[in-house]
Amino acid sequence: MKVPLLDLKPQFAQIKEKLVPKLIELMEQQTFILGPAVEKMEKELAEYIGTKYSVGVSSGTDALLISLMGLGIGEGDEVITTPYSFFATAGCIQRVGAKPIFVDIEPDTYNIDVSKIEAAITARTKAILPVHLYGQAVDMNEINAIAKKHKLDVIEDACQAISARYNEKMVGNLGTAACFSFFPSKNLGCFGDGGLITTNNEELYKKMKSLRVHGMESQYFHKSVGINGRLDAMQAVVVSTKLPLLESWSDGRRRNAEKYSSLLSKNKKIGLPVQRADRKHIFNQFILKLKDRDALKNYLSEKNIGCAIYYPLPLHLQECFSYLGKKTGDFPISEEAARTTLAIPIYPELTDEAIKYVSDTINSFSTQNSEKQMSAS
Ligand SMILES: *Cc1c(COP(=O)(O)O)cnc(C)c1O
Repeated sequence: MKVPLLDLKPQFAQIKEKLVPKLIELMEQQTFILGPAVEKMEKELAEYIGTKYSVGVSSGTDALLISLMGLGIGEGDEVITTPYSFFATAGCIQRVGAKPIFVDIEPDTYNIDVSKIEAAITARTKAILPVHLYGQAVDMNEINAIAKKHKLDVIEDACQAISARYNEKMVGNLGTAACFSFFPSKNLGCFGDGGLITTNNEELYKKMKSLRVHGMESQYFHKSVGINGRLDAMQAVVVSTKLPLLESWSDGRRRNAEKYSSLLSKNKKIGLPVQRADRKHIFNQFILKLKDRDALKNYLSEKNIGCAIYYPLPLHLQECFSYLGKKTGDFPISEEAARTTLAIPIYPELTDEAIKYVSDTINSFSTQNSEKQMSAS
């Protein structure tokens, strides 16, 4: 049996009939960038997340960049974030001229360890940029309390966590601004690159809308220098069409996570994802933790099971951040996660048969491996 890490074709089958005529309509109108389709999507998403405003942008990366620019963060400033995330999180901090200040993660959720944040705050700190990694919210009450005390802004990197909840509240409505990605492999993906920023701050909203179009206020008059961060109308139509199904897809991922957890629960060698009681995890990724990670990865690949490492090298050890002077051992929990974690297929349309096959294969690997170790000792 072949089980890919992600298969988007069954999702397309569910929306094809509704979506294709809308795309054809756009082609007939020949209207491609921003416009009514993007405005409609922004309104729907703001309503769904529960914020007053949202801004459709060209990617999750540009959402981060525009949020940082909108808050006036730049040269000489510091932003506290996690060393264990997709590169864009820290890359954008650097792009605006600020310095990423890393704080290690929790060993069970892989999210930033909130208890270590205050020690990293200096007079130059302007914001905290937590990442709701793999689809589970960070402890936002704690983060907001620290931010309030030190007068800092909070930008949620919610790129992997659309539809996740924290204390019943939607992720993306918990800080100063929040960033989402519509990259195809995210829970709400479009047909290319796309992203969104949400906020309740009117002034920031207006600033970010202008930054999205090169800082333009009225046609060809620029108060500030922004970027080309525009979203295509076609991508907005895809997002609008998919949105009504998002909750059912995230619930499907949660159900699959439960099935895996019961099928793998007896396996002492494998650590399973941990869900905090006050949170709804939406499993953008389902992450295993084990010593023999690389051997399992090869074994699963041999058995035609898709799997991937998110992420093999923590951000503080990336060559481009060597100027920060961080070395191996500085963030040991992140380094351990980079060595021991593996993502397995979790997309909502996975069949019970596929989940059983993946679980049985993982369990057979563990038995085989311990027999090998026993005969070697
Ligand atoms: C995907 C992702 C991004 C970037 O989104 P793009 O749309 O690919 O630019 C940023 N942060 C995290 C945590 C992500 O997973």
